[in-house]
Amino acid sequence: MRRYNGNGRRNLPPAGEIPKHYDFTEVEERWQRTWRDEDNYFDRRSPRPRYIIDTPPPYPTGNFHIGNALNWCYIDFIARYRRMQGFNVMFPQGWDCHGLPTEVKVEEEHGITKNDVSREEFRRMCRELTARNIELMRRTMRRLGFSTDWSNEYVTMLPEYFSKTQRSFLRMFHSGYIYQAEHPVNFCIRCETAIAFAEVTYQERETTLTTFDFDGVEIATTRPELLAACVAVAVNPDDERFTRLHGKELTVPFFGQRVPVLQDGAVDPTFGTGAVMICTFGDKQDFHWWKEYNLPLRKAIDRKGTMTGIAGKYAGMRVEDARKAIAGDMKKANLLRGEKRITQRVGTCWRCKTPIEILSERQWFIRVKHDEILRAAREVTWIPEYMRTRLENWVAQMEWDWCISRQRIFATPIPVWFCDACGEMILPSEDDLPVDPTVALPKAPCPKCGGVKFTPEEDVLDTWMDSSISVLHVTGWDGSGTPPLFPAQLRPQGHDIIRTWACYTILRSVALTGQKPWEGILVNGMVLGEDGFKMSKSRGNIIQPEEILGKYGADSFRQWSASGAATGSDVMFNWNDVVAASRLQTKLWNIVRFILPKIGDRAGGTGEVTALADRWLLDRLSGTVAEVTSAMEAYAFDQALKAIREFAWNILADEYIELVKGRLYSEEPERESAIAALSITLDALIRMLAPFVPHFAEECYHHLKGRSVHREPWVEFGFRDAAAGEKGDLLTRIVSELRTYKHDRGMALNAPFGRLTIYTKSPVDDSGDAARALNAEVLWRTEEPLLEKRVQDVKFNMGIVGPAFKGRAREFMDAVRRLPRESLENPPAAMVLGGDEVPVPAGAFTPNFTYAIGGKDVEIVTVGDVIVAVERAP
Ligand SMILES: [Zn+2]
Ligand SMILES: [Zn+2]
Repeated sequence: MRRYNGNGRRNLPPAGEIPKHYDFTEVEERWQRTWRDEDNYFDRRSPRPRYIIDTPPPYPTGNFHIGNALNWCYIDFIARYRRMQGFNVMFPQGWDCHGLPTEVKVEEEHGITKNDVSREEFRRMCRELTARNIELMRRTMRRLGFSTDWSNEYVTMLPEYFSKTQRSFLRMFHSGYIYQAEHPVNFCIRCETAIAFAEVTYQERETTLTTFDFDGVEIATTRPELLAACVAVAVNPDDERFTRLHGKELTVPFFGQRVPVLQDGAVDPTFGTGAVMICTFGDKQDFHWWKEYNLPLRKAIDRKGTMTGIAGKYAGMRVEDARKAIAGDMKKANLLRGEKRITQRVGTCWRCKTPIEILSERQWFIRVKHDEILRAAREVTWIPEYMRTRLENWVAQMEWDWCISRQRIFATPIPVWFCDACGEMILPSEDDLPVDPTVALPKAPCPKCGGVKFTPEEDVLDTWMDSSISVLHVTGWDGSGTPPLFPAQLRPQGHDIIRTWACYTILRSVALTGQKPWEGILVNGMVLGEDGFKMSKSRGNIIQPEEILGKYGADSFRQWSASGAATGSDVMFNWNDVVAASRLQTKLWNIVRFILPKIGDRAGGTGEVTALADRWLLDRLSGTVAEVTSAMEAYAFDQALKAIREFAWNILADEYIELVKGRLYSEEPERESAIAALSITLDALIRMLAPFVPHFAEECYHHLKGRSVHREPWVEFGFRDAAAGEKGDLLTRIVSELRTYKHDRGMALNAPFGRLTIYTKSPVDDSGDAARALNAEVLWRTEEPLLEKRVQDVKFNMGIVGPAFKGRAREFMDAVRRLPRESLENPPAAMVLGGDEVPVPAGAFTPNFTYAIGGKDVEIVTVGDVIVAVERAP
């Protein structure tokens, strides 16, 4: 029988020889060397039901950060659980390579700008840096023990992948989804590229509101430099201050163009002066008016953020400099009427936080068909459900089509040329992909005019164009229709990229296959720093996974991920949680170390489970298995791990083992029953732990069974014995109470106790467990105890006696002690004290009883309605 594979086999410790201390570093490294990648490969020929995970392809920064690690832990729990359930699981790993951060890094590392070298050379540098970064991140992933399917790794910058991106571009162009147009787009002048609305983040900024004289009308604006691009002035039609202007034209100060005065209900008369200038383009509202009133286009700002020729003397200035210069000139010309600081919500580039400009540009777009996206989104199961609303809200407010062209270099080229002679757009055939039009030429002359000179499209594709077909790629898309393994079963991702990755994937999936991309989407939260804030360099609250791995190991980290929060919620990092996780591991190791030698070579044996405590344990185990399984099905990893922890720590270790220890060391025939129960329980426990702590579980299972737990099926254990459940609960409670009794009286827990008579409603046969656990003679009785109850003495409540009797308190107490016993139990209303009759205040004293059975003194302990008579050993 093949038990383990790989070269690490010879390094395994002999099964059964269990070291006292669990050395996580040694164990984790050893299993990582022993496990084979092949065991996690998806099998395309397998008849087993498939489970395909559309894993996020991270951006190769070289740093697999704690947020990634959390998300991947969730994915790995699912992948391992589904494999144990018999699914043919694909847990692929992609790398979303293209994009600006790598370009910037390359410029830094080589001390160049992208224009210093050829495009191809610059791309080569980017690919090289990316390859190095991927390797660094792979290393962290392996240290975390993920069961990644490395045979399904993909790298978006490589031709095998980006030719699919280009193919999807051609398909969507031909089916009318993609078009090219001059249209206003969000533009980052620092990144020098167009960006999509999904990439605009809004921030509160302080800015100056300048009020000035605009041809006799006062106007307030935060962008005086846009006067050069002013195409109209608008007022509210109901604003009587401006009735005189209706139908008039005004002259723009400094620039001289004549502009109409429009009346539009969207103008807020309470903002600024109530009159606004419309420029191309100050904001989205300007765009709406521009379109609605068919206004001319005046471009005052270029792609680099400098003023254009129409800005006259300000041409060539940076936007901010022009703003100051114009404000200064207004002052000189005596046009300035006021300046005040205001806070404003400004759209900024999500990467570099530079305020975006709206520039009218020739760009490529994908048509957003809202209904299609929403319909497919509704067919997907969202976990948690409320995340679907976030997508729906976003889609509802998408007004502009998705701008997919970028003015960068390290990205998938747009496979298009234009004929120099007639301007015809030339597309390659799918067979010629991948293609870089700046390097290669079309295979044939221009079909329209026969021209042979072409201008390549230099724009490249948005990186979301690469990553939004990840699911098509992993399911085997070849460009034609629906991929063979479509749709995937699960998309795991963070809530921060719902409007981008989730939304674009659904859009593309519907456009290319007509179907939803996945059956379900699992949305996880972000990891916050110990201070409760998002981790960031500036706050200095970043924790790297490596730091935790070094101190507590991968399995503790994984446990922390599982127990942190419900999926969907943000998780605050906390060292204490990691320490608690490592403590549970130590506790579990001690449990295993205790149990294993008792089981010996009978692991997996089928001894009969007869004793009450053993049947109780299996009943509880069965309940735990059901609870853990349903939590796993709901991706409630925190609940699953909590149920395992409570079972292992409280029920198995603290209650059961303490109860049956004596039997395990004895020669009793029912010892075998305990061994069978422990063997079943340990096996089930380790298998339930396997998805969460794969190294630890593997080590334990190696000692238990000598084979890999990761090839075992998920636990299906149904053992229900309601009577044993109920009586076992009672038994463990009684033993626990009596142990507390011993402890409270300063007795050693193993000290001889004496005789215990336990009176229960129905008979209990505990196979002598209570007697051994308590070191007592135990008699179980079902008859009513014939208790003789006597008042022994009384206890005074000085809080009542003191104030009531003051100086006569002692006298009162002595008198009480002389009362007949019956009066102590039922105090009289009054009594005689030194000749005076005085009332006895309620609650002044309470009697202490002693008990006897058959004339023998006993102590009584009650556990619910069970009475235990204790005759202490002398
Ligand atoms: Zn930017
Ligand atoms: Zn032509």
